[in-house]
Amino acid sequence: MTPSRDIGLYIHIPFCRQRCHFCAFYLEIGRAERIDAFCAALAGEIDLYRTQDLLAGRPPQSIYFGGGTPTAVPAKQLVTILELIHSAWPTNTDIEITVEAHPSTVTAEDLRILADAGFNRISFGAESMDNQDFAPIGRPGTVQDTETAVTAAQAVGFTNINLDLMYGLPSQTLTSWTKTLQSLLTLNPSHVSCYALTIEEGTKLANDIVRNLVPKPDDALQIEMESAAESILTAAGLLRYEISNYAKPGSACRHNLLYWTDQDYLGLGPSAQSYVDGVRFGNIADLTAYMGLITKHTPPIAERTVLSPAEQQRDALVFGLRLINGVPRKTVDQSLAASESRHILSQLMAQGLVESDADRLRLTPLGQRYADTVAGELF
Ligand code: SF4
Repeated sequence: MTPSRDIGLYIHIPFCRQRCHFCAFYLEIGRAERIDAFCAALAGEIDLYRTQDLLAGRPPQSIYFGGGTPTAVPAKQLVTILELIHSAWPTNTDIEITVEAHPSTVTAEDLRILADAGFNRISFGAESMDNQDFAPIGRPGTVQDTETAVTAAQAVGFTNINLDLMYGLPSQTLTSWTKTLQSLLTLNPSHVSCYALTIEEGTKLANDIVRNLVPKPDDALQIEMESAAESILTAAGLLRYEISNYAKPGSACRHNLLYWTDQDYLGLGPSAQSYVDGVRFGNIADLTAYMGLITKHTPPIAERTVLSPAEQQRDALVFGLRLINGVPRKTVDQSLAASESRHILSQLMAQGLVESDADRLRLTPLGQRYADTVAGELF
């Protein structure tokens, strides 16, 4: 065990009001009785790990409520969960506490309750600033909802606001994407995440593409859109610090940085993933089974892998390369002890996907576009 490693908490709220056509996350359509039962089970899971002293005295650096749509749960119930976490694991006053929100699921009063309880970062799934983009992907709500929610969040004191966008949507053009970015900036976010639309097997969108009802994403256009995002957001003072993430100075997401800088995280809730003391484990992706295991005081874990030191170092390299600044050479040298791995790295450099100086190794702009390929080669 390495006591110096930082740790964060991730809370998976497995509810949404409806399923977007592209979404393959584990979730249910939120109903009050299931939400109540989930909150009771989550309290049990928190207590289980508190009793086990799984954090070994480490105060969490961040708490992140993700999903699903956390704000599909009433704000007061989210606050109760946060209070349970605080009483289980004392935290520092400068902790980052994020809640993801669908703009159409929060009122000004909800936002005030969350801000008063200590949530200090909010991440809205804006997805686009063009209403025409929503119907083909089954995303509920309007651009007006996003504008209203962001303004209301600012009014109750949120200054650290992320807006998620998606590019490569069926109805998007390079021109409309550019307008979306410019329109988004008028809301003055401190952080923007831009994700390329990917088609997940089994989703309605995948089926619609097979049936020729919706065009499939155009890879070349997505690359142009990624470049446009980098130009426009960087010019507005949002620095690209990770392949998909841009932030004003000092506003990088501290929770997500734990993933990319080889730190620990404990995930709570069905389907949540954890990495603690060199062990990866994932909760069962079934709310009923999750609640049943918690009732028996059993960790709701479906899979568990103990990583060897070499595997831990390899993971640190692969995740760290998602950062635009890359990883320290020390991490590289530890990770690539085997001569075969060094050969792979040499090939990636020769292909122009990876570059290095005396201090750090990083993806090239070309490598950033093919980060998954690079990761696949290094694993
Ligand atoms: S709101 Fe987010 S989590 Fe919920 S269905 Fe849509 S994409 Fe999936």
